[in-house]
Amino acid sequence: MRQEVNLRTYQQMKLDLAEVLLSACRVTGDRDEDLIALEREGLSRLAGDHFTVVVVSRDGSGGTACANALIGRGWLPSDSPQLGSVPLRVRHGTRERVRVEYLEDGHFGDARLSDLAALVTEDGNPANVKRLRAVEVRLPGEGLRRGLCLVVERAGPRERVVSGGDALVVVTRREEALSDNGLNYFEEVSEGFAGLFVAMNGDATGHGDGTAWRDEVETRLRAMERPPVRMAFPVALRRGLACLEAGDARGFRESGIPQLEGALASFLTQRGAEALLIATRECLQSVLARRPEAERNEYLRRLEAIEEAHRNPDPQEPLSALESTAEDMPPRNAGACAICVEVKEQGFRFLSRYQFELASNRDAREEHARAGGFCPRHTWQYERIASQRGVSSAYPVMLATAARRLRELARQGDGSPASSGPLLSARCPACAVQQETEERAIEAILMRALPSGEGLRGALPWVCLPHMERILLHPKAVSVRRLLLELVAVRLDRVAEAMRCCLLKDEGARRDLVSEEEREAAVRALGLVAGHEGTVCSREEPAVPARAPLEPSL
Ligand SMILES: [Zn+2]
Ligand SMILES: [Zn+2]
Repeated sequence: MRQEVNLRTYQQMKLDLAEVLLSACRVTGDRDEDLIALEREGLSRLAGDHFTVVVVSRDGSGGTACANALIGRGWLPSDSPQLGSVPLRVRHGTRERVRVEYLEDGHFGDARLSDLAALVTEDGNPANVKRLRAVEVRLPGEGLRRGLCLVVERAGPRERVVSGGDALVVVTRREEALSDNGLNYFEEVSEGFAGLFVAMNGDATGHGDGTAWRDEVETRLRAMERPPVRMAFPVALRRGLACLEAGDARGFRESGIPQLEGALASFLTQRGAEALLIATRECLQSVLARRPEAERNEYLRRLEAIEEAHRNPDPQEPLSALESTAEDMPPRNAGACAICVEVKEQGFRFLSRYQFELASNRDAREEHARAGGFCPRHTWQYERIASQRGVSSAYPVMLATAARRLRELARQGDGSPASSGPLLSARCPACAVQQETEERAIEAILMRALPSGEGLRGALPWVCLPHMERILLHPKAVSVRRLLLELVAVRLDRVAEAMRCCLLKDEGARRDLVSEEEREAAVRALGLVAGHEGTVCSREEPAVPARAPLEPSL
């Protein structure tokens, strides 16, 4: 079980707490300034809540490799052995971004990820000649998205860790961890932290001897007086990360990284949940202080239910077979559905050509009129492209054909269209293009996914639910249906979570923390449910209205 599971449930709990607090704020009608400040403070605390894990190494080596392992991808430079004296902060961002803070007050600059080695390593920035205070990297890692922040710095013997945080990870070589110097170092460096996690990196020595090392180091750690939580893990950081990136689950497990991550995440989330629950309860009580007791108790009961659900998750709840990964990040500026985008593009191309034909070619106009023109939706799409002159040249034939039909109707029977079919029945050419485009796009997606569904996760574009339904109904989709359903479920959860986060940060006046993904989530949610405007075709709503049964005419 990786860190995401812990962090996900913690995040859910936080968002549930925020919802209770928000609804309590809304019922308190007589809000004075003090009350508003109280609410704001409570929400702002929830919105800004995160975990800071400081990763240090004595000689500056291994810190970034460990951070990469915790983020789950080799984003940070770990080939340059020495991390210089500039702390490297890593936070979540929907896109990669590097921000440099200079020692001179108020000076910031942007840099590229590939420049990092030149900024934070001793080789690239010896003795901090570039006069930097810190370098902040924003990355789209999953743990980061759920509130993990990392600080990587060097802390030699008798050096203090500059950055404070919730937990300290010390990366050390295995043999160093057992020396007396090593133990003194742990004691010195972990001052002020509640948890110490020693990552004994054995990349160079190979595996097999991990457990023996760990027992010995943990015996020694027990002899220390602080911090309250002290644990040691044999890890192979680089090898583990390489396995993770290559999709070698077994190799990754054997690297010891998941064990370190799991222990770290459960330490952080347990501690964090307690603090969050206490703070939210206090805030709720103050916010509702002037409300009737029964109402107050009702809110406190909701809070207890969240606490209970967090401690003992419902075993009936179907467990998701898949966890969200960075591969499930929504595409940038592409809307919610790749098929809708394709339909829109092809539809526009077709209509542009077709309206030109209608404006300039008599045969085309007559054919268009015989076929009953466009469906109502495509008529208005045509109107947006065509000029008034174009419409005036194309549509007289259309109206004349319709007029002929009305006169025929007037001469025959009772004149009710119900007895003879609708006034207009369009075999819309734009709808036909749309259906072909959809069919082609669905085939292409399934071609990439088949036969086993391997690689489907990365290859499956974001599609709206109406189009997903069509993919699932496709005969070729049978073997990958289950996987498709799980994948889409993960994505829907992800967008829902992003919307809730956005709302919380908005209400808690922490708009500065809203990520690009969170900002776009609301529009994306609608697009996922309904497809893009005017691109999900109306196959369900019949183009020709069903004919009413004949009424006997009196
Ligand atoms: Zn769609
Ligand atoms: Zn149409």
